Amino acid sequence: MMKYSEPIRGIDFHCHVDLYPNPTEVIAACEREQIATLAVTTTPKAWPQNRQWTERSRYVFSALGLHPELVGERHREIALLEEYMKESHFIGEIGLDGSPQYYKHWQVQIEVFTRALDAAQRLGRRIVSIHSRRAASKVVECLEERTTSDRVLPILHWFSSSMAVGRKAASIGCYFSINHQMLEHNRGIRLVRNLPEDRLLTETDAPLTFIGERKSEPTDVIMTTERLAVVRDISVVELRRIIRANAMRVFRFTDV
Ligand SMILES: [Zn+2]
Repeated sequence: MMKYSEPIRGIDFHCHVDLYPNPTEVIAACEREQIATLAVTTTPKAWPQNRQWTERSRYVFSALGLHPELVGERHREIALLEEYMKESHFIGEIGLDGSPQYYKHWQVQIEVFTRALDAAQRLGRRIVSIHSRRAASKVVECLEERTTSDRVLPILHWFSSSMAVGRKAASIGCYFSINHQMLEHNRGIRLVRNLPEDRLLTETDAPLTFIGERKSEPTDVIMTTERLAVVRDISVVELRRIIRANAMRVFRFTDV
C-alpha cells in the first residue's frame, strides 16, 4: 500500500478530498504535484466511494470517519463505521467537539468516539486522525483509557489546546498535524513551536481552510511547511526531512 520509493514534495495528513466538487481532479493534482495525502471522510457512507477513488493512487490514501459535528444526527452509523474499520488502516475524521453548538450531543459524541477507539484497539495497526476542538483533554483521556501506543497511532489534527495537554498527548504517543491557519496567531505559533519535533506532521484541512479568499488545496501544504520551518527556526530542507521521516514512521505503523 505504501509505495514510498515515490518522490514526495509535500505531506498533507488531513484533507477532505470528497468535499470538493471534483474529487478525482484533486486526487490527480496530488499525483502530479507529488503530495502524499490522507483523504479523511466525515461519514462511513462516503467510504466505498472514497476508497474507490483512491484505490490506484500512489499518493492519496482514504481514511474512514464519522465527524463529531455530524454525530448528533448520524450516531446510528457507528455500526457501519465499526464494520468498515476492518478494511481500513486509516481512520478519520473522528473525535470530540466541545463547542456550544455541538455540546448538546456531548454524551453521544463520547459514546461514538470511544466505540471507534475500542474497535481500533481491537483491530490494531490503526492510524487515527482526530478532531479535538474544545475537547482536547477529554480526547487525550479517552485515548489513554481505551488505546495503547503499540496498536493505535493517534494524530491530533488542528490541535489548539494548551501546552500542558499537548505534552500529555505526546507522552501517550500522539502526533500533531499542523495547518497554516494554526500559524496565523501568536497563541498557535507558541504552541506549535513547543511540540516535539519527532511528532510533527503537516496538513491543510482543505477545503475548509482558506488562503486569502480562496479555499486551500493539498498543494498548499508546501507553503505550510515553509512557514512551519520559520516558526520552528530551522531550515526548510531540514524540516522537510523531519516531516518525511515522521510520516514514514506513521505509515510503517500500519505495516502494509
Ligand atoms: Zn477536518
